Amino acid sequence: MAEDLAALGRRVAQRFIVRGVRPKPSALAEQMGVELMQQEAPPPAQPRLRSEYRAAPPRIVLYCDPINELDAAIYANQRFDMMRCDLLEVHVAHELFHHIEFGQRFGALTPDEVEAAAHAFAQALLELDFEPAELSDLAAPEPHL
Ligand SMILES: [Zn+2]
Repeated sequence: MAEDLAALGRRVAQRFIVRGVRPKPSALAEQMGVELMQQEAPPPAQPRLRSEYRAAPPRIVLYCDPINELDAAIYANQRFDMMRCDLLEVHVAHELFHHIEFGQRFGALTPDEVEAAAHAFAQALLELDFEPAELSDLAAPEPHL
């Protein structure tokens, strides 16, 4: 199933890549009428939340503090593959998939399935060299035993 969802995310991304030209996710959001907002801190109940999509009105909220912490973790871990990407655009791309999928456009998917497709969408749209899910592992590493 996970393979199918990655394929779904990639297929949706391909719709926006015209003759090899990859649009900037933030520009795509603007074209689609999705407002971009930046806030410093995430809601206290979700201190690790880096971004979210809200549907009414369509809006992507980026939480700068946890995104900056992730940026620091990327440098601390010398993830050169990740340093090349624009972290804000990666998050916009991920949330944009939630906008496109909103209303179960691709059928009744579980939250985990939607996440897998959204990660694959962002990876394909931005031609990332790494799996976007790895960002969350870096941001919240397993505690050492
Ligand atoms: Zn998501």
